[in-house]
Amino acid sequence: MSGHSLIVAGGGIGGLAVALTLARDGHRVTVLEQAHELAEVGAGIQISPNASRILVDLGLGPALARVAVTPSDIRVFSTRAAGEVARTPLGSRPEERWGAPFWVIHRADLLAVLAAAARAHPLVDLVLDARLRGVGAEPGHITIHATVAGEARDFPADGLIGADGVRSRVRIAVRGGPPARYTGRTAYRATVPIEAAPEELRRSTGLWFAPHAHIVHYPIRAGREWNIVAIVEDAWHDESWSVAADRAEVARVFGLSTTRWPPLARRLLDLPDQWTKWALCGFDTDFEWSSGAVTLLGDAAHATLPFAAQGGGMAIEDAEVLARTLRGAPNVASAFHAYETLRKPRARAIVDQAAKNGRIYHMPDGLAFFRDTTLKLGVGSRLTDRMAWIYGWKAG
Ligand SMILES: Cc1cc2nc3c(=O)[nH]c(=O)nc-3n(C[C@H](O)[C@H](O)[C@H](O)COP(=O)(O)OP(=O)(O)OC[C@H]3O[C@@H](n4cnc5c(N)ncnc54)[C@H](O)[C@@H]3O)c2cc1C
Repeated sequence: MSGHSLIVAGGGIGGLAVALTLARDGHRVTVLEQAHELAEVGAGIQISPNASRILVDLGLGPALARVAVTPSDIRVFSTRAAGEVARTPLGSRPEERWGAPFWVIHRADLLAVLAAAARAHPLVDLVLDARLRGVGAEPGHITIHATVAGEARDFPADGLIGADGVRSRVRIAVRGGPPARYTGRTAYRATVPIEAAPEELRRSTGLWFAPHAHIVHYPIRAGREWNIVAIVEDAWHDESWSVAADRAEVARVFGLSTTRWPPLARRLLDLPDQWTKWALCGFDTDFEWSSGAVTLLGDAAHATLPFAAQGGGMAIEDAEVLARTLRGAPNVASAFHAYETLRKPRARAIVDQAAKNGRIYHMPDGLAFFRDTTLKLGVGSRLTDRMAWIYGWKAG
C-alpha cells in the first residue's frame, strides 16, 4: 500500500524524520510546525548507531558528517573517586561493530539537515506557524483543524501522526492520554567555544557521576564548540519549562563552593556565562498511542529521561518502523496499530534503562564506592557492550 496523504503534527527531530521515511515510500506528507522558524535549543545531542544508520540510509550521511563529531572515547569520572574511573575507546569502533557512526552534533545542525531534506522532497510540505488544534473523524478519512499564520484551516488526510513533543496536544487532547509531569530533575545546558574547554577533554564524551547530579560534555559543530549538560535532582516550581540561568545559579545549585566537586569538574561548571535551564518531564507509559488513523511518535509517545541519550534516537527509530508498517498494511489504522505493537516493548525498555542509569549516576557516596570499584575493575572498558542491545538495533 502506498500513496497515502498523512499529516505530521510537529517539525522536531521525530516529525521531520518521519516525513522523510514516509515520503521515501511514496506517501504525501504535510508537517505542521507551530514555530515561525525551525529552531532548536542551543545544545548538543548524541546520535548512536541505531539512529545514525537510519539517517545514513536516508542519504543524510555526508551532510551530517560535515557538522558532527565522532568522539575519540567515553570517559567516566566520579566525584567520590575525585577523578576518572573508566574509559572506553569510540572513534571508528561503533562503525566497525554496528555499521553506523556514533555522532555528537549541535541540535540546530541536525534539524537543519533534516529540514533541508524535507524541503527538497517533492512529497513533503513543511508548513511553519501552523498549530494543530483538533481532529475530526469521518468515515474513511480525518480532518485536522489547525491555525496557520493566525487563520483557521482544515487539512483532510488519511492519517495523523502526533510528533508534537512531551506536552503533545495529540496525546493529551485528541487521544485522552496522560499529561506531562516534572520528574524532579533539571538539566542546565550550555555551549562554549572549543578553546575554552580543557584540552585533555576536547575530543571525548565525558560523564561525571556525583551524588544526586551528573555532568555530560562533548564536542559539536565539527569540533568548533563544546557542549555541557549538568543535571541535578531538585524541586523546580517555576511555571516555565525552559529558562535562562547564570553562572551564579549553577554554582549555588551544584554546590561549587563545597569540596564536593574535584577542581576539573568545578572548572567545567564555571565555563559558561549563560545556561539554559530545562525541566525534565515524563509521563506514564501505560496508555494506547493509536486510535484509528491517529498515532504518536517520539517524545509525544514515550518521553524518557535523557540518561541513555536515546529520546531523539527512539524518535528516528519510530519514523523508520512507522513507514515500514505502512508498506504491507491494508489501511492506515491497522498499520498504526502494528507500529505501536512493534515499538512499545523497546520504548519501555529504553525508558526503564534511562531511569536505571539515573540511579547509578546519582548514587550517594556510600554506594558509589561499589559502583566506582566495579568500573575500575574493568567493566568500564565494556561500557559500550552494555549498550549493544540499543546501538545494534536494526528495523526489520
Ligand atoms: C537535557 C537533554 C539531553 C538529551 N540528550 C539526548 C541525546 O543525547 N540523544 C538523544 O537521542 N536524545 C536526547 N534527548 C532527547 C531528545 O531531545 C528528544 O527525545 C527529542 O528532541 C524528541 O523529538 P520529538 O521530535 O519527538 O519532539 P520535540 O523535539 O519536542 O519536537 C516537537 C515539535 O512539535 C512542535 N509542536 C508542539 N505542539 C504543536 C502543535 N500543537 N502544533 C504544531 N506543532 C507543535 C514543537 O514546536 C516542536 O518543534 C535529550 C533531552 C534533554 C532534555
